[in-house]
Amino acid sequence: MPAYKMCCLPGDGIGPEIIAEGKKVLAAVGARFGVDFACEDALIGGAAIDATGEPLPAATLEAAQASDAVLLAAVGGPKWDTTDSSKPRPEQGLLGIRKALGLYTNLRPVQIFAPLAGASTLKPEVIDGVDLMIVRELTGGLYFGARHRYYDEEGAGPDGTPGQRAVDTLEYREYEVERIARQAFEAARRRRGHVTSVDKANVLDTSRMWREVVHRLHDAEYPDVTLDDMLVDNTAMQLINRPAFFDVVVTENMFGDILSDEAAQITGSLGMLASASLGDGVALYEPSHGSAPDIAGKGIANPLAQILSVEMMLRYSFDMGEAADAVHAAVEAVLDEGWRTGDIADASTPTDHVLGTVAMGDKVVERI
Ligand code: NAD
Repeated sequence: MPAYKMCCLPGDGIGPEIIAEGKKVLAAVGARFGVDFACEDALIGGAAIDATGEPLPAATLEAAQASDAVLLAAVGGPKWDTTDSSKPRPEQGLLGIRKALGLYTNLRPVQIFAPLAGASTLKPEVIDGVDLMIVRELTGGLYFGARHRYYDEEGAGPDGTPGQRAVDTLEYREYEVERIARQAFEAARRRRGHVTSVDKANVLDTSRMWREVVHRLHDAEYPDVTLDDMLVDNTAMQLINRPAFFDVVVTENMFGDILSDEAAQITGSLGMLASASLGDGVALYEPSHGSAPDIAGKGIANPLAQILSVEMMLRYSFDMGEAADAVHAAVEAVLDEGWRTGDIADASTPTDHVLGTVAMGDKVVERI
């Protein structure tokens, strides 16, 4: 029997609740398809800060590097929020593991599940046919640039009053742009053959270089893929205005962070969106949402994004397309039957039945 070793990172807030459902689904897939998935839990984020003082303990990184794939839930929460940049923050655990595993590609599919069309705030005719993939660069740009805070004469206001200034550096190298663009063109070839490259080339030098590199690669190796450029501010509008226009959207780290949350809302719930972070080795799978501290511990979190991240793991890390399809079909069937967690329930639809986190996981497992 094939055996895989998973590193599971529950993190904070609703993390432990939803990852338990992801593991349950993985076990069901293992039973049906004859694969042994062993999960080893490790600490990350606020939970790791509390236990060790660090958001990404060395033991966690070692466990992740020794695994076949990493399943993460979410990190962060008000307990660890601080504006003091000398204090550890949960998000550093996430950024640290992405960097250490070389996960430069973040794939975020945005699909409408037909029974949830009513959960979107957009009109049905606008979301009809939406099926897009955001390909976000994950290890460069502002989030990894040099950062400084100064309290000096340059920080003084116009009247000479002393003040602080803060600097974050946005930097990209050609090879970083080329490898993420390649991922986007490859994804487009598996989909509808259309890439929209998003930048701010009317203002930023990094964006002008981005555009040059993307076009050079396109013309040399992917002329069969349709490529268009779009400024990030226009993209923010078009995603709401005509989301079905997009197939693959490729962009740098911060633009991708913002646009993917916006795209998430097209579907009506962050609780439905999975993501895969890929590099050249071990990959990491996680929901697109955060740790939802407002509902943590209540047993009402939607586990479906976590479960759909298990689907992506089966597809990308284990090449188990049939098993991945089975997970997707199980989620679709459960939604078709009207089962909902609170975040995706529509009070005006009497056929919706509201379930808690565990019961929703059980429904998906039954279907598998
Ligand atoms: P969030 O995604 O945690 O929550 C936003 C809203 O969506 C909340 O109302 C929440 O209850 C709801 N929500 C999110 N996931 C849900 C689910 N599975 N089921 C039902 N409802 C769900 O974003 P936030 O409130 O901005 O951030 C909370 C914390 O999460 C912060 O500390 C933030 O830094 C962190 N965060 C972590 C990640 C990550 O781990 N990848 C991503 C984003 C935010």
